[in-house]
Amino acid sequence: MKTFDYVRPATIADAVAAGAQPGASYLAGGTNLLDLMKGGISRPERLVDVTHLNGLDRIERLGDGGMRIGTLVRNADLAHDPEFAKSYPAVAEALLSGASAQLRNAATVGGNLLQRTRCGYFYDPASACNKREPGTGCAARDGENRLHAVLGWSERCIATHPSDFCVPLVALDAIVEIEGRSGRREIALEALYRLPGDTPERESVLEVGDLIVALRLPAEARAFSTHARYLKVRERTSYAFAVVSAGVALRIERGTIREARLALGGVAAKPWRARSAEATLAGGSPNPASFRRAAEAALAEARPSGDNQFKIELARRIVARALALAAAGTPARLPALPASPFASVSGAFA
Ligand code: SF4
Repeated sequence: MKTFDYVRPATIADAVAAGAQPGASYLAGGTNLLDLMKGGISRPERLVDVTHLNGLDRIERLGDGGMRIGTLVRNADLAHDPEFAKSYPAVAEALLSGASAQLRNAATVGGNLLQRTRCGYFYDPASACNKREPGTGCAARDGENRLHAVLGWSERCIATHPSDFCVPLVALDAIVEIEGRSGRREIALEALYRLPGDTPERESVLEVGDLIVALRLPAEARAFSTHARYLKVRERTSYAFAVVSAGVALRIERGTIREARLALGGVAAKPWRARSAEATLAGGSPNPASFRRAAEAALAEARPSGDNQFKIELARRIVARALALAAAGTPARLPALPASPFASVSGAFA
């Protein structure tokens, strides 16, 4: 492994100053970064360890009814926080759908937002990869690409974003707070991510030195808590990234869907908000026909990037299934054990 400097700043301001130095990377849980370093994929000159910064490991209820989650909160702690799981059950379910118990105990909220793609060629220094080395090509275009993107991809890169957690967060309009060289700012999580276009090496809108310090969920998102689910298909049940997934939240009043939220995972370089599908659901009744229409709308722009045509129909079915599960109601046990795509849905929503 390449040698590197290690610093442990005492304040957020010191961390940002250190993180803005050339070749610096922030270190939190390390569950992705250290693997990348061991494989020679990331070669930072300096690691800025932020794990001892005060105040970044708190889960707070805000005065306006929303919740603020510090960037260093561990995935497992957030999923099992009773108030969080009750308020945002699809997010807790997504957290428990990700990785293994050991990794969830180590991984942090901030790191989860910024984890890198799991494209196999990205992790292989012998393969051409525009994301790892701009201008070298994309080995996945003519390679093993059945798990790659079907939305928002470009000829330069067809990789997907691997996070489960981010999918319902985007559906629920989560906000990220960022500390940078010119102070604190906040942006919608959805706007944090960039599609690959001609510069797949630029995955987010973060600038040099920017440190995500917190994530916020708005109070309005709690209105969906009784009809919210996350549904993931993976190639092995125990531990794998999503082939496709869907985060769904419905606000149902007297048998009518007043408002719907829907985002997909495993289909693009970012968690994919499906607003056109949400619009087809609003004002209608929850039933299999409306779920199927929403699923068609969600994937209307999809096109295969290789040997992955199957993902489009699979994603439609997962969207419809997730909508049916959400309409049937959030499970009483919270956080919910991750739903199976093969689980039966009772009654009118089947
Ligand atoms: Fe690299 Fe993206 Fe191509 Fe994968 S899909 S090889 S990450 S450029």
